[in-house]
Amino acid sequence: MPHNRDVPWSDEQVEMPEDLLQKWECRTEWLDDLHWVQIAEGPCPGCDADISGYTSNEPGPIYRQLLEAEGEPGKGLQVKVPVDCNCGFDHKQKDAGGCGRSCIPICAVSAPPRKDNHQEVAEDGA
Ligand SMILES: [Zn+2]
Ligand SMILES: [Zn+2]
Repeated sequence: MPHNRDVPWSDEQVEMPEDLLQKWECRTEWLDDLHWVQIAEGPCPGCDADISGYTSNEPGPIYRQLLEAEGEPGKGLQVKVPVDCNCGFDHKQKDAGGCGRSCIPICAVSAPPRKDNHQEVAEDGA
């Protein structure tokens, strides 16, 4: 998508339209058994540049919730990832580094990779 550099800088939180949200991608990076970072990447609702943000968790009930969901799509935990436009362009505002918009895509946290992943190969009993 082209970066619209003519968009004037404005400090505002933009409601994410549904069709724009479709273009956002989220991924979960597990730091250890309890800690994850959720990374969201997508087009800025203001200037259309590719921007990204992240949020991280505190271990606790959230983790149990995740384990119960067992990674089924749509059943996992959803988190809001606040993203400030960080397109790097100043948009006529000195040292802004972005168009000033912020948005909050909602991402599904993927379940942690399973360590006890010893799937037994079914024997054919030939
Ligand atoms: Zn921009
Ligand atoms: Zn922007």
